[in-house]
Amino acid sequence: MAKQEDVFKKVVSHAKEYGFIFPSSEIYDGLSAIYDYGQNGAELKNNIKQYWWKAMVQMNENIVGIDSAIFMHPTIWKASGHVDAFNDPLIDNKDSKKRFRADVLLEDYCAKLEDKAQKEIEKAAKRFGESFNEDEFVTTNARVVEYREKQKTILERMAKSLTDNNLADVKALIEELEIADPDTGSKNWTEVRQFNLMFGTKLGATSESATDLYLRPETAQGIFVNYLNVQKTSRHKLPFGIAQIGKAFRNEIVARQFIFRMREFEQMEMQYFVPPGTELSFYEEWKQKRLNWHLALGLGKENYKFHDHEKLAHYANAASDIEFKFPFGFKELEGIHSRTDFDLSAHEKHSGKKLQYFDNERNESYVPYVVETSVGLDRLFLAIFSNSLKDEVLEDGSERTVLSLPPALAPVKAAILPLMKKDGLGEYAEKIFDDLKFDFNLIYEEKDSIGKRYRRNDALGTPFCITIDHDSLIDNTVTIRDRDTMKQERVAVADLRRIIDEKVNFRTLLSKI
Ligand code: ATP
Repeated sequence: MAKQEDVFKKVVSHAKEYGFIFPSSEIYDGLSAIYDYGQNGAELKNNIKQYWWKAMVQMNENIVGIDSAIFMHPTIWKASGHVDAFNDPLIDNKDSKKRFRADVLLEDYCAKLEDKAQKEIEKAAKRFGESFNEDEFVTTNARVVEYREKQKTILERMAKSLTDNNLADVKALIEELEIADPDTGSKNWTEVRQFNLMFGTKLGATSESATDLYLRPETAQGIFVNYLNVQKTSRHKLPFGIAQIGKAFRNEIVARQFIFRMREFEQMEMQYFVPPGTELSFYEEWKQKRLNWHLALGLGKENYKFHDHEKLAHYANAASDIEFKFPFGFKELEGIHSRTDFDLSAHEKHSGKKLQYFDNERNESYVPYVVETSVGLDRLFLAIFSNSLKDEVLEDGSERTVLSLPPALAPVKAAILPLMKKDGLGEYAEKIFDDLKFDFNLIYEEKDSIGKRYRRNDALGTPFCITIDHDSLIDNTVTIRDRDTMKQERVAVADLRRIIDEKVNFRTLLSKI
């Protein structure tokens, strides 16, 4: 089995074993591509949300946050283009009976070409050492040029065919490239068809009077339809932003990558309203700001890259993804889109209500343009979780599994561990717990050897373990152990709050952005 697959398997099993993520409805054999967050997953997820909300809303004077309903007037989805165009091209393999996204098959093919190009670059970098000039190499090396040109030709042809709804050509392209079902090797494909990803439901008591509704496939439209309410009540001038965190639902065709692609998931989106003509400079600005936000987490610069879109969605005049190196390769983590005035204009047209802004400086009214940043909370969870999960061999040859989560995001900040329950150590430890619980999420554990308790907390990502022993009763000191360095220090109980806070507070994380 490939190493990548092993890593991914370990991520999935660790997430379950330590109470982060469970398959939904597991006792009924689960529900495909739906997952539940357990006690530690819910904490980690809430902390990720806080990191986003604080960075976007609290730290930007001109961005406010809302919480709009999941159910919305059905015409919204007509106006937004989702009823007519929120489709994925699907293709079935006649032999394996497996279903694929035709565009993903082609993109994966291109990703393999890019891997080959990268290998050439790495080889040359090693060969030439310090004198290696990557920019020159990628434009002159015949193989790299060929791999890159081929990708470009494929992606451009796919983009054109999808835009023209020429699905026969998408199939022809798959056949020309001899793309096979990755699991079985079969090249026996059906025609390509479009499949709408929205879930339908009904609002109302009787089937005759019920209205057809959709579960929202993105949170953005809840922001657009509230644009004027928020602008008027917040009195913000352009440019200003509206942020939102919430559930979205998509009937994904292929959903086999754990929480990377779910049918019910959460998005953290921000729509930035700007004067027409300025959108592309704000788009560049937000691309950089969002990348910096990710980099502050410390997961490694080399794990991120931009992927500028060839095929633009019906609403965009520029779009880029921030891709992250997941255990199964580089994939989209966040989308940054310049959505023009498409959405607000469409809502003006369909609702008959004006959604214009009067610009004092320009002395004119117009429909604002929008730059969107949209990140999947669950994908971010997976990025952080999988990157943090490490098996380490220690100096004495023993091994440990550690989840080196950014401390501000760790579900539990400190474990309070009395060496034993008797001799008053339990009571003393409880007192420490009761004092620190106002500031931090803690766990209290008195079972098992102290070594085992350390290991369990390492695997959970707990930044500190605090051990209470007999000396604690005499001099009010405890041992504090750092998850990452495993160093143990004797400190005064009175200093615990400050020591923990310095490492885990959001200020420390946010100031790195
Ligand atoms: P993909 O191409 O992977 O299907 P997308 O381009 O359709 O994603 P967007 O519509 O731009 O995604 O949504 C913004 C973000 O929401 C994505 O970057 C991703 O992080 C997240 N997201 C989208 N679909 C899912 C899903 N099915 N499960 C989990 N997260 C998702």
